[in-house]
Amino acid sequence: MSHPAHHVVVIVGGGAAGATVASLLLKRRPDLDIAVVEPAETHWYQPAWTLVGAGAFDVAATGRPMASCLPGKVTWVRARASGFDPENNQVLLEDGRRIEYRFLVAAAGLQLDWHKIEGLEATLGNNGVTSNYRHDLAPYTWECIRNFSGGQALFTQPPMPIKCAGAPQKILYMAADHFRRRGLSAQLSFHTPGPAMFGVPFYSKALERVVAEYAIRPAYGQNLVAVDGPARKATFEVKQADRSERIEQPFEMLHVVPPQSAPDFIKSSPLADASGWVAVDKHSLRHARYDNVFGLGDCTTTPNSKTAAAVRAQAPVVTANLLDALEGREMSAKYDGYASCPLTTSVGKIMLAEFLYDGVPAPSFPLDPRIPRRAYWWLKKSYLPALYWGMLRGNLGLDWHAPRQFPEAVPAFKA
Ligand code: FAD
Repeated sequence: MSHPAHHVVVIVGGGAAGATVASLLLKRRPDLDIAVVEPAETHWYQPAWTLVGAGAFDVAATGRPMASCLPGKVTWVRARASGFDPENNQVLLEDGRRIEYRFLVAAAGLQLDWHKIEGLEATLGNNGVTSNYRHDLAPYTWECIRNFSGGQALFTQPPMPIKCAGAPQKILYMAADHFRRRGLSAQLSFHTPGPAMFGVPFYSKALERVVAEYAIRPAYGQNLVAVDGPARKATFEVKQADRSERIEQPFEMLHVVPPQSAPDFIKSSPLADASGWVAVDKHSLRHARYDNVFGLGDCTTTPNSKTAAAVRAQAPVVTANLLDALEGREMSAKYDGYASCPLTTSVGKIMLAEFLYDGVPAPSFPLDPRIPRRAYWWLKKSYLPALYWGMLRGNLGLDWHAPRQFPEAVPAFKA
């Protein structure tokens, strides 16, 4: 058997997290031998799919060739990882090869479990059933909104954790705004297994005001389990104390966010804990058991909101701590749990939710972040995409986020 290829650093996944860490490492150590294992030919800027679904962004502008997103100096291994053998410092590839490393960075994102909702895959993209969680379906969301002529519009959110926990309701508000402007008679409902609109109470209370303004019906404790596209019926499991029942709901339009989990090859690997995610320390981002393994982005156990904004805060931490370990120093960097979720409360306004671990509000600007503002819409549409593409090249831009105190009472605002 031939010897496996060897690299000082192997990064699995060339998405937001993998590409950014590769670039940051090379900025500090231009001679570092890095391989990135990544099967995809296209790199997607997923945060803009929400705007695509509302007709406010061109889907073609959300994808770029992977080759242009990975630094030229890395060895790009165009293959899919199929497992990890951390005892032997090796990554296993689907084609049977192995790659050896001194340091490993797990950055393979998460898996969308469409198949867990009965009947969904057969009808996605037809019968008014859509999802902004796929680039090829986001334009169909806009088609559904544009062609909507009244009736029931359902929006669903699966159990946590998911990537961008705000995305399921962002499209809800923009659809509501469109229907309102057109004077349509629409009944909108938001179905979530959780007990609130958002996991951070500070923002959730403000979002309840948005829900009330649009007369949206929040359906808490409801989990989508089946879809019958041709019959236009959605089935929800409703849990109450010690029993659960199934209810059917007719729809004209159904926006689904699929259940999500760690990629299967991570779940079944020694890097995962019982939850299936890569088990890392929530501050150092180093693996709980393997000192030469780091993890970041959507694939880990860290209890932050899974976002590209979190990646931007995590990538410098992984870079610093990996280089500390490589060069024999104590690890020096700590991730504070920062994440950001630009909540589109209407077409043209955004509530810029930024927070740390434990839901501590940490806005970039010294303004009450619960008030939706037009300036943040511009930020989302123009500045953040540019920031993202720059981040992949190791340019992180300015970072002003800081914990700040605000009055408990939600201020008055219009969505
Ligand atoms: P990804 O960027 O998904 O990259 C994972 C990479 O791993 C991919 O390139 C994939 O091909 C690769 N990979 C997968 N399996 C393997 C394998 N077996 N072997 C090798 N490579 C593999 N974030 C925000 O900050 N703000 C937002 O407003 C926002 N909105 C969003 C809206 C939507 C609809 C969606 C879908 C996401 C949104 N996000 C948002 C979340 C953001 O896109 C992710 O959190 C971010 O991309 C995570 O980066 P990542 O590198 O961990 O995963």
